[in-house]
Amino acid sequence: MRCPCSTGLPYAECCEPVHDGARPAPTAEALMRSRYSAFALHRTDWLLASWDAATRPATIETGDERWIGLEIEATEAGGPFDREGTVTFRASYVEDGERFVVHERSRFARTDAWRYVDGHALGGTR
Ligand SMILES: [Zn+2]
Repeated sequence: MRCPCSTGLPYAECCEPVHDGARPAPTAEALMRSRYSAFALHRTDWLLASWDAATRPATIETGDERWIGLEIEATEAGGPFDREGTVTFRASYVEDGERFVVHERSRFARTDAWRYVDGHALGGTR
């Protein structure tokens, strides 16, 4: 299976080891990709585990939407030696036959591992 996060790599060589805790995401972008794939594959365990404890919701539910693509537009910091980073992306999904795009600038922080802090919506487009 090809990884949902649009790298073109097989899932087993891309986000699966991150989801399974076998390989930590080295960068904020890699963590962002793993979270997108987790939405696509309904891996709510990873969505919660990769969320900063201070901002993490108690539960996450994924719906019937079908995620169809991730485009990373920009990254700032978020490297293996940074403590913070941002990733700007567009994530597309289809729900009830309609296409939607989530356009967001997400903030990430690294302590023992990279985690998602919060996101700033840049306005959705269809
Ligand atoms: Zn991936």
